[in-house]
Amino acid sequence: SIILSEDTLLPLFQYCFGDHVWLESLSNSELNVPIGAVVKISDSGQILVEDDEGKEHWITARNISAVHPMHPTSAQGVEDMILLGDLNEAGIVHNLLIRHQEHKIYTYTGSILVAVNPYQVLPLYTVEQIQLYSNKRIGELPPHVFAIADNCYFNMKRNKRDQCCVISGESGAGKTESTKLILQFLAAISGQHSWIEQQILEANPILEAFGNAKTIRNDNSSRFGKYIDIHFNRSSVIEGARIEQFLLEKSRVCRQALEERNYHIFYCMLMGMNLEQKKMLNLGTASEYTYLTMGDCTSCDGRNDAKEYAHVRSAMKVLMFSDSEHWDISKLLAAILHLGNVEFEAAVYDNLDCSDVLDSSHFSVATKLLEVDSGELKNSLTNHSIIIRGESVSMPLSVAQAADGRDAFVKGIYGHLFLWIVNKINAAIFSPPSQDSKSLRRSIGLLDIFGFENFNTNSFEQLCINFANEHLQQFFVRHVFKLEQEEYLAEHISWSHIDFTDNHQALEVIALKPMNIVSLIDEESKFPKGTDATLLNKINSHHGKSKVYIPPRSVHDTKFGINHFAGIVYYQSKGFLEKNRDMLSSNIMQLVYSSKNKFLRQIFQGSDTTKRLSTLGGQFKQSLEQLMKILGSCQPYFIRCIKPNDYKKPLLFDRELCIRQLRYSGMMETIRIRKAGYPMRYSFAEFFERYRVMLPMSAREQDDARRCCIYISEVILGKDEDWKIGRTKIFLKDYHDMVLEVQRDKAL
Ligand code: ADP
Ligand code: MG
Repeated sequence: SIILSEDTLLPLFQYCFGDHVWLESLSNSELNVPIGAVVKISDSGQILVEDDEGKEHWITARNISAVHPMHPTSAQGVEDMILLGDLNEAGIVHNLLIRHQEHKIYTYTGSILVAVNPYQVLPLYTVEQIQLYSNKRIGELPPHVFAIADNCYFNMKRNKRDQCCVISGESGAGKTESTKLILQFLAAISGQHSWIEQQILEANPILEAFGNAKTIRNDNSSRFGKYIDIHFNRSSVIEGARIEQFLLEKSRVCRQALEERNYHIFYCMLMGMNLEQKKMLNLGTASEYTYLTMGDCTSCDGRNDAKEYAHVRSAMKVLMFSDSEHWDISKLLAAILHLGNVEFEAAVYDNLDCSDVLDSSHFSVATKLLEVDSGELKNSLTNHSIIIRGESVSMPLSVAQAADGRDAFVKGIYGHLFLWIVNKINAAIFSPPSQDSKSLRRSIGLLDIFGFENFNTNSFEQLCINFANEHLQQFFVRHVFKLEQEEYLAEHISWSHIDFTDNHQALEVIALKPMNIVSLIDEESKFPKGTDATLLNKINSHHGKSKVYIPPRSVHDTKFGINHFAGIVYYQSKGFLEKNRDMLSSNIMQLVYSSKNKFLRQIFQGSDTTKRLSTLGGQFKQSLEQLMKILGSCQPYFIRCIKPNDYKKPLLFDRELCIRQLRYSGMMETIRIRKAGYPMRYSFAEFFERYRVMLPMSAREQDDARRCCIYISEVILGKDEDWKIGRTKIFLKDYHDMVLEVQRDKAL
């Protein structure tokens, strides 16, 4: 330690014991931003600071220039980040950090909610809290996901417009939990404690059992995207809902990475089903099945599979699954497990590599459960028929090919089963609006879609997922930055442009431009001679020069990169076409159609993959575009979930991890624009209509709406306050909305 002389110490004295300062970091990682620290002065006159992570640093004459004063708002923390005096990344991340340490996981940026996963159960979601937040404006109470839900509901009623909540974040950031909390809140405040709300709430445990799994990142990771649209009648009471699902990860049924599991339902069934039923399905324990043990992990800390099974069973009853339907589902799940244990042995006929099914009890049980002829099952697993000159010719499969074909069959069964389940749920919770109430029905949609993914190996699935995230980011950018600034211009509001990162170019290359990547994949999939290599060539020749595309490093390299808004991802093009085609061999389809298992035939109904027009990518693109259209017609709310660490641990805040998430989600620019901008706006007529109760009786019938708006605002918000009169509208800050509504309530 260095003892400082009198005159080198002098400049240090601007900081006293307990002062909050910023400390510039000396390392040069790109995620480096100054860290907050508190000054401690030791007896000997040396100066010591302790940073936000508990590390101590001596301040000497040499590094004194790395210390800067902290704005008091940063030292205390703020509920709304537009109030931060230090409007920079350091300020934002420090604010989230100190709030996280105090279990304050929610923070606003205007009306955008930032939610940091606490990884522990906090007493924030009780009945009392629901009551507390019900019918309050944003800003009246500490930030909360319930406040967002309540404002959605309030705005739906007030503005007579559909609302949506777009919930984004990485895997494990808390999207699904937030979605469930909003749903619970809405059911509690707007329902009439009736059957339909219970049905909507109970859809979740079923969807999660079949569509969620333990992954390295999240013990309850959703492996599909969903949009839940909740419908309200003219009295704003819940009358139904509809769930749309996106792109279930089917490969998980056959393969899991280390420390990951298959879908919860399998483990739940094996733990929870009674012995008699298990015996009928010849089921044992999870450790006996290849499909359940690939990740070397059959149980998950903190989950009780047997209890979950009971929950799923009762939820299915609530959602009108009959006992026989439940049994049909169980039979298929069991058939999948038995098929996974079927093995093949190599054989040679006519100099060709062939395979035979090794006889086993698993094979015969699978045959029995699928209710197919055992010879035909054998045949369709070990042969592949192709059409040559109009005639079907059977080609034998090698052992590896046979195993792949079996996996494809299993993925087909599970994928169709999942779709059937979603449809079944919708049949129970969806009620079409009657003709005369159509225009009076309003909805709140909740979007909980898989977060951005970047693994060691990324394939077609990751491309689809990241494509969806580009769309959502563009929706956010358009709403928060583009439309906003265009409107200021149109309304002649004085405004200096705020720069933002636009991801439009990436979206264009992936899916919008002619010859975009998704359409090239589609085209190549339909082209009989197309291969992954010819596909890669085409992508290269069309996008080689684009800034967002990174071509393979050499002619032997099969990976290409895309510069996504959240970072560069390299995709392995091998397997793209087959995944996109998503077809089962005609032998397998024949087998399904010949099955005596009515349920098996039913779930495959209408999905003859050989006749299907669209590919997986094509369908996904179409459903995303439709979703974007729906979102575009709603008034949106945004919730940004942040994952504070990679270890699922409470009170651990990894600054760099958080900075990265805040940076690519555009949080910095968002705060800037929300601080400078006027996110609330009304036409003069709308404003006058709503707030004229605050005028003296004699002034209420005035016909100059514009003048009345100015008058009301001057009286309620103050003359010098930061609201603006445009050409046709009045522009307000988010918090003005609260002030006005509170005054209006008093006046009523
Ligand atoms: P995502 O859907 O974004 O992948 P989840 O919503 O499944 O993430 O959250 C992952 C886990 O984090 C949950 O299983 C839960 O343990 C924890 N978690 C998330 N949000 C909360 C919360 N608000 N309170 C307590 N724990 C939470
Ligand atoms: Mg999830």
